[in-house]
Parts: sequence; structure tokens; C-alpha cells
Amino acid sequence: MAKLKAGIVGAGIAGASCAGTLAAAGWEVDVFDKAHGAGGRLSTRRFEQGWATLGTPFISAKREPFRSQLRDWVRQGWLAAVRGDVWQGRATLSWAQAQMQNHYRPIIEPSQLVRQLLGEARLHTDSRVVALRPRTLVLEDGRSLDDYDCVICSVPVPQAIPMLDALPLLRERLIDVRYRPIWSFLMRWEGGPTADVIKFDDHLLNLAVRQPTGGDGLWAVHSSHEFAETYLEASEMEASNRAASALMGLLGLPWPVEIEASHLWRHARPVASIGGFWVGDRENRVALIGDGIAGVGVERAWESGTRLAQAIMQSKEELAL
Ligand SMILES: Cc1cc2nc3c(=O)[nH]c(=O)nc-3n(C[C@H](O)[C@H](O)[C@H](O)COP(=O)(O)OP(=O)(O)OC[C@H]3O[C@@H](n4cnc5c(N)ncnc54)[C@H](O)[C@@H]3O)c2cc1C
Repeated sequence: MAKLKAGIVGAGIAGASCAGTLAAAGWEVDVFDKAHGAGGRLSTRRFEQGWATLGTPFISAKREPFRSQLRDWVRQGWLAAVRGDVWQGRATLSWAQAQMQNHYRPIIEPSQLVRQLLGEARLHTDSRVVALRPRTLVLEDGRSLDDYDCVICSVPVPQAIPMLDALPLLRERLIDVRYRPIWSFLMRWEGGPTADVIKFDDHLLNLAVRQPTGGDGLWAVHSSHEFAETYLEASEMEASNRAASALMGLLGLPWPVEIEASHLWRHARPVASIGGFWVGDRENRVALIGDGIAGVGVERAWESGTRLAQAIMQSKEELAL
């Protein structure tokens, strides 16, 4: 019997967990991502001295089955519970005081965690999908791949909407989902708190996380949503300079801050999501997953992918969309 075939758009944690679960059950799975590699908002930047992440710094699990997934990654030596001090306002706090006890940090590149979830699924990078049709994915280069038993879209909702012209009923269900942006920067400075995480009580900056590689004093700095909305159309240079001067003021740094990289996440976190784990058009064999559907955070995104895959597999009619 021919294998059932799924086409998935987006190799973030939601798409990868869905793809890997289906592939482990014997499906033939193609995953297309417009980026150079897997990871999405868990992707990493590589440079000479190592890697750093401008996206999600921490992963936490509130419940099973994601707790088991994290325990497994800890056993493999890929993830570790966060330790150290948090500097907040003007004080140094323990992780417990900062309410971060259940937070884990990747020891390996977070994008590798996502890569591992893909399992036997085939990843096609630098492959932007421009349209979804019943059982069909249309790529930017004009190819139309129409032999899928189901197609799954796992990208931030505002990026999914333009792909859904041929599926207006599905598109209508997404109209109210909104995301807020974050500017992230890799910065290096001398002095300041000795903690590993800085939580700013400030309207411009939100968080700074010391990077595990890249030499002394390399930090990922995340702006507030308000900052990113103000500088949504600003150049990287303008946004970086504004953030650096805010940082120097907040930490009272004696020397200028060095800015090594910056990235604007236009769709960093959904403000409101649809609820449930996925939305689907059963007749046309199309479904959508990801944090815009299931709710903010890595855990919800992972759950939306695995739950959809399980529902597809468990359905007596083979496809429970
Ligand atoms: C700065 C920042 C900090 C965060 N901090 C935390 C935190 O501490 N804890 C936490 O739980 N969560 C955090 N989050 C949120 C978390 O990262 C997301 O909820 C989660 O990673 C979403 O995963 P996803 O698979 O739904 O989407 P994504 O990771 O966005 O994956 C979508 C993928 O689709 C691809 N794609 C988009 N359009 C197309 C197209 N047309 N064709 C092909 N591919 C396409 C993208 O390249 C991307 O790889 C943070 C996010 C950001 C940005």
C-alpha cells in the first residue's frame, strides 16, 4: 500500500513536532521552510565563536506530555534547568524569587532541538510557499505539489492569511488573530550586573540573557512590545542605537555598548489566539497549527503539532481535519 503523504509549511516547533510524529507513524512528510534552516522563533545565529539566539531564550512546560519531552532532552544533555541569578530593577534575585524555577535553557542550539523533532520528515529549506489549495502546496518558484493526502500550515497567522485565497472559510476564522512584535539584539558590554538574566522594569526594554557561547559579555537583549511597535519601520541601525542608549541608561554602563546583530520579530507573540490545538477544513484536507491557533509559547506550539498529528492518525477515516 502506498504511504500516506503530508505537506507541511513551516519548520518551527509546531510544524516539526507534527511532521516528526506523522513520519514516525509511517507517513511520507515534506516540510517546507522559507528560511535557511529549521527552528523559526527557536532559530540560532552562528558565528566564529559559537552560536547565539535572538528568539526564545527559555523553554518551560506546565503539563504533560511536554514535561516528558523536556525530561527526555535533559537526559540527552540538550537542555538544562536554568541556574544563577536574575537582576531585576536594582536587586539580584534567585530563580525562585524571579519565578523562573521551571525554565530550561538549551545547551545545544535550539534549532537542533527542532531539527531532532523532524525525525524522518524531509526538510526543504529556502522554500517559500505562496498558496495552499485542497491537498496542494504552491511554491514561490511556481511548482504546484498536488499529491498530498493533507496539507498543514504552521506559520504565524498573518503570514498564513495571504496563502488562503482558495480556502475562504478557513481564512475567515483567522481574521481576529493579532501578534505583537519584539526587536532583539546581540550586544556586548563591559561592567553591569554579574547575573545571567536581567529583567528590566522599563517600557523600552524587557529582558537581557547572557549567551552561553560567543565569549565574555555577549547578551541577547529583547525590547518591549511598545518599543518594537514604535520602531516597527525603523532601520536596524536606528532601532539598535535607541536600544543601546536605553540599556546604557538603565545599567549605568561606563563604556559604549557594541551591537553585533539585530532582528525584528514582527510576529513575536500572539495577543489572542483561536483556542483548541488546530483549525481545519476537513473536506479540503487542510489544517493550521502554531501559537496563533493554540496560544502563546513553545509548549502550546509543540502541543498543537503533536495533537494534530495524533488526531490525523487516530481518525477512523484516516484524516481527522
Ligand atoms: C524574542 C522572543 C522571545 C520569546 N520568548 C519565549 C519564552 O521565553 N518562552 C516561550 O515559551 N515562548 C517564547 N517565545 C514564543 C515562541 O518562540 C513561539 O510561541 C514558538 O516558537 C512558535 O512556534 P511556531 O512553530 O508556532 O512558529 P515559528 O517558530 O514562527 O515557525 C514558523 C516557521 O514558518 C516559516 N514560514 C513562514 N512563512 C513561510 C512561508 N510562506 N513558506 C515557508 N515557510 C514559512 C518560518 O520561517 C518559520 O520557520 C518568544 C518569541 C520571541 C520572538
